[in-house]
Amino acid sequence: MGILPPPSTSPSADIMVHKALYLKDIFSQGYVDTLAWIHDVRSSNECVILVLRDSSDVVEVKICSEKWLPVLKNLTRESLVRIKGFIKSDHVLEPELVDIVIRAPPTIPIDVRSPLPDDVKTFTRYSYLVIRSPKYSKVFKVQQWIMYYSREFLLSRGFVELLPPMIGPCSDPGLRGARKLQTRLYGHLYELMSSVIMFKQASVAALEKVFFMARNVREEPPENLHTGRHLCEFTQLDLEWAFATMDDVMKLAEDLIVYVMTKVKERCKDIIEELNPYYKVPRTPFRRLRYVEAVEELKKLGVETPEGKEFTQEGERALSQLYEEPIWITHYPVISRGFYYLPDPEDPRFNRDFNLLLPRGFGEVIDGGEREYRAPEIRKRIEALGEPIEKYTWFLELAEIGIPPSAGFGLGIERFTRYVLNLKYIWEAAPFPKVPGVVPSP
Ligand code: AMP
Ligand code: MG
Repeated sequence: MGILPPPSTSPSADIMVHKALYLKDIFSQGYVDTLAWIHDVRSSNECVILVLRDSSDVVEVKICSEKWLPVLKNLTRESLVRIKGFIKSDHVLEPELVDIVIRAPPTIPIDVRSPLPDDVKTFTRYSYLVIRSPKYSKVFKVQQWIMYYSREFLLSRGFVELLPPMIGPCSDPGLRGARKLQTRLYGHLYELMSSVIMFKQASVAALEKVFFMARNVREEPPENLHTGRHLCEFTQLDLEWAFATMDDVMKLAEDLIVYVMTKVKERCKDIIEELNPYYKVPRTPFRRLRYVEAVEELKKLGVETPEGKEFTQEGERALSQLYEEPIWITHYPVISRGFYYLPDPEDPRFNRDFNLLLPRGFGEVIDGGEREYRAPEIRKRIEALGEPIEKYTWFLELAEIGIPPSAGFGLGIERFTRYVLNLKYIWEAAPFPKVPGVVPSP
């Protein structure tokens, strides 16, 4: 048992500046002196069971002293309390103070104890409450470590992290059916970043190895809601490496995934054990399949791929269900992809590019390849997009001055988090998700 610190003279005077103890430590310390949310409150015989929640834990205490029962019995879930007292045996709390700092209304729109991700409209509308649920607090803590170890790994390999631009006169047009969003800057039409590909190519001329944690916005076709892996606002760990080949960056991606999954498993052991019974750090090198081989595999399963196109969503899911480990698909048809991939000199109908598909139906998590860097080729392919060419003026100027050959990829952070934690839907891996086709009322 620890010793209770002296009580403060005014119960609520120091609320804003002082939280002496986190819930995870109250039982080892033998006392409580904290601010916490009422996660739940139940009566039990002559006592009240309080389930308290803060950023560190969710704990149950039992309070039986008559003095406090009238206050506690009327407590509503999601109220904020300042609570002080001794912990006795069996999680019994002898309060010295229970001060209701915020009294929540008797009903709130969702049950934060277990929000239901299948009800996607309610889940996204009330994402400001979903984040309070213990499950999603855990998800975002793990996501933070995914980003932390990704950065640690890339910095150790000599990469420089840059701040991503959010708007520009043009953004990546290669979006597989999704649309770019526009805004205005001093009256001029600008686009929100759908990906930072062109800025990556500009940056490697100076820094050679760069990455961005880039937020991307795309209006996905509404039917992509049902893939469970599309958001309208998502994050790419988007990296580029000058003078590298596709093999260099594929090897880098494999090492990155293994490093992050190994470290996250050590750091977040309890959460992983709770949420993902399938967690397995994959073995390297990952298996590789050329696009044309994958099309044949799909045919055998009765799934057709439209001529010269990327796989259908169904095809992608079917392919990723075939394997227990992540799998590379390489050499996509040039006409199916963005203008910035380099055609394979050995067979220029196909690019030197790749996708990484995660197993068990999770699907694409990485997209990348070697880049087109030759000015005349870039101009030809941008002209073929059918968009106003002026939007691409700066990039065409840059191409004339010189873009180094490079290779790189983008890894979807929310998709990776979903896989690491075995989440049913990608919107469970974004704190304030925007999902295809759903615009919640304000
Ligand atoms: P892309 O170049 O369009 O293939 O995007 C690169 C990577 O970003 C993909 O491999 C995914 O991991 C991720 N990504 C792309 N679109 C979305 C989306 N709508 N929602 C979530 N992640 C996405
Ligand atoms: Mg892709």
